[in-house]
Parts: sequence; C-alpha cells; structure tokens
Amino acid sequence: MLRDSLDYIHAHPEIYFKQEAKKGGYVCPVCGNGSGEDGTGVKLIKGQSFRYKCFKCDTSGDVINFYAAEHQLDNREAILQVCALYGLEVPKKKFKKIPRTHKHISSNAESVKNQAETEIIANDIIIAANHLRETDYFAKRGISYETAERYNCGYIEQWTHPTKRNANNIFPSPRVIIPTSSESYVARSTDDNKVPKMKAGTTSIFNISVLKSSSQHVVVVEGEFDALSIIEAGNDAIALGSTSNVDKLIDWLREKNIRPHLPLILNLDADEAGQKATDKLADALLNMRIQFYSVILSLKAVRIRMKAL
Ligand SMILES: [Zn+2]
Repeated sequence: MLRDSLDYIHAHPEIYFKQEAKKGGYVCPVCGNGSGEDGTGVKLIKGQSFRYKCFKCDTSGDVINFYAAEHQLDNREAILQVCALYGLEVPKKKFKKIPRTHKHISSNAESVKNQAETEIIANDIIIAANHLRETDYFAKRGISYETAERYNCGYIEQWTHPTKRNANNIFPSPRVIIPTSSESYVARSTDDNKVPKMKAGTTSIFNISVLKSSSQHVVVVEGEFDALSIIEAGNDAIALGSTSNVDKLIDWLREKNIRPHLPLILNLDADEAGQKATDKLADALLNMRIQFYSVILSLKAVRIRMKAL
C-alpha cells in the first residue's frame, strides 16, 4: 500500500514541486532556487528516476526528502503529510511514547497552538467568503454563486496553509475555500491540479448535518466539488473528503442515531480505495438498518452530458 503511494508520488513530482517556466527544473521548495530570472532550480540527479538535487542549498533526495527539508520534519512525518497532500491514503501513524514528565507541558503547548490555528481557520473562512465573487472557478465547475454562498464557500487569492503562515519560502497560491465545518476547510487551487488540494483544521465531512434534516435521497461522495455539483442540481449530498473519513461517518450516524428519510446513495470513487470504503460503509449501514443504494457512475460523464444539454 505504502509502496504504491510512493510510486505514485515519485511518478508525479509536479504535484509537489513548482515547475519553473524557463529552464525546465523545479523551484526548490527549501531555498526558492529557480523561481527568479536565474538559478537552475531542482534537477533530477543524472541516471536516477526520482531523486533530485538543488545546487544552491544542496538539498537532495526524492519528494519526501525535499518536503521533510522544507517543513523540517523527519521522513516518517513527511511521508504522512505528503500522502495527504497527494490525496493518497495516509499510512497509519505509529505514535512515539512521550516521556511522562514532558507529557503535560507539551499537550498544553499543543492546545494553545491548536486554538490559535482554529482561529486562523475560522478567520480564513470569513475572509474567503467576502471574496467569493473574485473568482470564476465555481462558475467554471458549474456551481452558481448562490450555491457557493449557501455553503460559505469563498476565495483567497494569496493563500498559504494556516500552519505555515510564518514560515519562509512558502509560495502563496490562489485557492477556493470550501468549509467542512466552522473550524475546517478544503483549499483547492484554482490553477487546476498544479498544486494539490489541502485541508486545514480537523478533517470533517462536508454538509454532514443534512443527514439529519433531508427529505431526499442524500448522495454520499468523496469530493466536495462533486457534492456541490449534486446540490446545484437540486439534490442533497455530503462529501467524505477522503475515504479514510468513512469511519467518522459511521461513528457519527451511530452516535446521533440518524435515520435518513430515504435510502442513501453511495457514490464513492470507482478506484480501489473508494470501493473498499463503500464496502465498509455498506456493512455498517446494513448493521444499523439504514437503507442505501450503491451506485457507480462517473460524475465527470454526468457533468459533460449536462454541459452538452
Ligand atoms: Zn535549494
């Protein structure tokens, strides 16, 4: 599983690295080499297929190594974050034991840090909402401003991740912001697929509360934009954000004892992770006696057909 993820990451350096326009290399995420008029940027090491070197700051290695250097992480933590960045299933983290004497202090510091981060995130959502109409990204994806507004979506032209606001060498990018709760959101680059979508705050399920109130079939999808498209078409939908959130959904349904009016429609991605998550969710729903249909349909095809009409 991890092997597959690494293969994918190695095959797609462009998702992480920023391509330099002129000289064919990538901009060094550690020192910025390659972003100006001169500078060679990060280049593949001769004879290797996925290891790079920056001749300015001397960082070398694969995407994971560069990410670790950029964010000052150990490689294990870097793998977790890079997988998340690439939208891949994040390998299960093995937590190190913290010595007892340090535990209290560090968890306190952690909570102060988390609180500050939560405030930044909540603030980002408000700022973004005020700038929604400065982007046509939603319109291009077939989402009206009215729908985007209803879900507090927005736009930030120069976005950086809330945890990286004070860091050097972080390149801002234009992002649409889709809140998944009042304290979390997904930031998606308007520069399609050049920069991966990133999450801020604790991952939450987009529009989950509709399950309490909807009188329709609620469609369960992975992507927030897929959910917005379905909503735009007049239906109700929630987005898991990632297949790993399937447990969250199951726990929430169980905890709140949710009884949807009509059967749910499960429409996760047709890849392996999507199908595994569908099976897991289906089992849990059967167990809770919640009715559902499982459908595999390509939303892309639907979108194209809708455009054609
Ligand atoms: Zn460098």
